Amino acid sequence: MKNLALHWKIIIGLILGVIFAFVSSSLGWSKFVVDWIDPFGKIFINLLKLIAVPLVLFSIIKGIAGLHDTAKLGRLATKTLAFYLVTTVISVSVGLLLVNTFAPGKLVDDAQRTDNRIAYEIWAQETGAEILDGKCYLCDDQYASRVEIVRGLMDTEAPDEKLLSKMQSAKSTKDAGPLQPLVDMVPSNIFLSLNDNGLMLQVIFFAIFFGVTLISIPKDLAQPIIGFVDGMNEVFLKMVDFVMQAAPFFVFALLAGVISKMAGDDPNAVIEIFKGLGWYSLVVVAGLGFMIFIFYPTLATTLTKGLTYKRFFKAISPAQFLAFSTSSSAATLPVTMDCVQDNLGVSKETTSFVLPIGATVNMDGTSMYQAIAVVFLAQFHMVDLSIGQQLTIVLTATLASIGSAAVPSAGLIMLIIVLESVGLNPAWIGIIFPVDRILDMCRTTVNVTGDCTVATIVADSEGQLNKEVWSALD
Ligand code: ASP
Repeated sequence: MKNLALHWKIIIGLILGVIFAFVSSSLGWSKFVVDWIDPFGKIFINLLKLIAVPLVLFSIIKGIAGLHDTAKLGRLATKTLAFYLVTTVISVSVGLLLVNTFAPGKLVDDAQRTDNRIAYEIWAQETGAEILDGKCYLCDDQYASRVEIVRGLMDTEAPDEKLLSKMQSAKSTKDAGPLQPLVDMVPSNIFLSLNDNGLMLQVIFFAIFFGVTLISIPKDLAQPIIGFVDGMNEVFLKMVDFVMQAAPFFVFALLAGVISKMAGDDPNAVIEIFKGLGWYSLVVVAGLGFMIFIFYPTLATTLTKGLTYKRFFKAISPAQFLAFSTSSSAATLPVTMDCVQDNLGVSKETTSFVLPIGATVNMDGTSMYQAIAVVFLAQFHMVDLSIGQQLTIVLTATLASIGSAAVPSAGLIMLIIVLESVGLNPAWIGIIFPVDRILDMCRTTVNVTGDCTVATIVADSEGQLNKEVWSALD
């Protein structure tokens, strides 16, 4: 057991966590798991987040201080952003292709979908939203009796509290002007930005600004600061190593906690949750699986000479498993940086620039999920979206994924904005809410794999990839 590679230990932790949750749920111990095991999962996420912000700060400053010429930085930034954008658009398009081909929302029986459609039209009437496909079930006499029943049901349905708070967060994001993201990127007080995990872009902005300024002051003055930053960077990297030693146990606790909360004292509850949303979940998982197992490795291995499928996965699997267990790209970031640097041989400068930005703005899994979810919900309500409307989804899903914080469920909040932007009822997120956590785990894995892929390709194109370390992966 001692000599087993870390990723195997993490997989074992993960599987045992799931088994333990099911067994304890059938024995009626789920409260015990939630009270005594789940908190260790939270401790793990806290530890990772604790490291993430200072690590990003020091590693970006260190990376830029080692660059010597700022033109290189501009080139690196352009390439990185271009790759991030292209992979995101491809990911959303694959999602749209799948959801249109398999149409999971149309597999529900027609009577239910007709009621859903009527509810949609009533909602549109009440809120003044335009009916997207121009059809009118409310005007059709054959549905008159259903309309009354659906109206009655809608009046008695009280919105879920959890959903209301998500809608509230989305509203404050949506009310902002078009340049607000740019304004939000520039901090007025860096200590406040360091205080809040959601403000990673501000930390990145400050670190780049600081690093560029550092190389433009006299060398003898800059040197002690560079030495300090180097030292701090090493300390935080070492912390990642320490925390990772205990990762298999923490992952066990995380998984046991997540499943126990879903199952309560009835393991069948998990199966029930997935039953109604089975096809939808399958389409999302198929799309995400395509990205992880086909798209990224093919892209990375064709554009990077000598990199094989096996080497690629062996190098980044600890980060992938951690992304899956924590549902947070931000919490996974320290480990992603470790894997990309030590196992794939990407230079420190490239890693520290490409990955923190990627964790915040590059979310291919999230954007694919949003595209699939919107079209599924429209199908479920018998609303036919035109190609033009679907292209609006591509655009908003891409922008929304950039705006999503790298934390659990962030994508669900942004989904509200995507739904609103195409003129659909944002409360529909309630329908897919039950399966969100599991799908979040999968999409976070895609997000992290995408970041690793782009980091490798960009590093190779800049001559910043040390391929000698790959022999350890064979
Ligand atoms: N949890 C995702 C991440 O951290 C974001 C989301 O899709 O909710 O990458």
